[in-house]
Amino acid sequence: MKIICIGRNYDAHIRELNNEVPEEPVIFIKPDTALLRNNNPFFIPDFSNEIHHEVELVVKIKKPGRHIPVQFAKDYYDEVSLGIDFTARDVQNRLKAKGLPWEKAKGFDHSAAIANFVPLSVLTEGENNGINDCHFHLEKNGDIVQQGHTQHMIHTVDEIIAHVSQYFGLRIGDYIFTGTPEGVGPVKSGDQLKGVLAGQTMFDFSIR
Ligand code: ZN
Repeated sequence: MKIICIGRNYDAHIRELNNEVPEEPVIFIKPDTALLRNNNPFFIPDFSNEIHHEVELVVKIKKPGRHIPVQFAKDYYDEVSLGIDFTARDVQNRLKAKGLPWEKAKGFDHSAAIANFVPLSVLTEGENNGINDCHFHLEKNGDIVQQGHTQHMIHTVDEIIAHVSQYFGLRIGDYIFTGTPEGVGPVKSGDQLKGVLAGQTMFDFSIR
């Protein structure tokens, strides 16, 4: 199992970090040791003083594939979830300044929190109209800090799968984090993070 992540996929988030709008999806990978499940608490690692939350829609791959055409990408998933791409922003900024890879800042232990998966049909409830037009948000200590609407993705989920599968063969059970909307910010010990997707609470866990 691997965790594939997309960076810079929402315009307003690119601007808040002063990054350039990419012509093709920015991809990075987290190892399986990055997984954090079951509302277990997230422990702030010693090597960072600036851990940021990035709430993201997560897709689970259900069949193997390589070089998947975009029009067939929808056949490769039927479950979605919500997750946090925890990022050591201070470490990432140091690495980026030197042009080095981001792994230490992005792939450390428990940096990929993922809630339980739900069927795609959940994304058609209420004001939501499927994976390309659904809403999610993150609450920190009861305040909404990030709001996402997948209509604002630069690359759709299907485009992401088509692009990623040109480089990395997809396997059953792989996870794809699809990028974060604006509003990323720090977490500290004692914070409580709650994620809501299409009106449904997906995760609710603490920072230690
Ligand atoms: Zn992210």
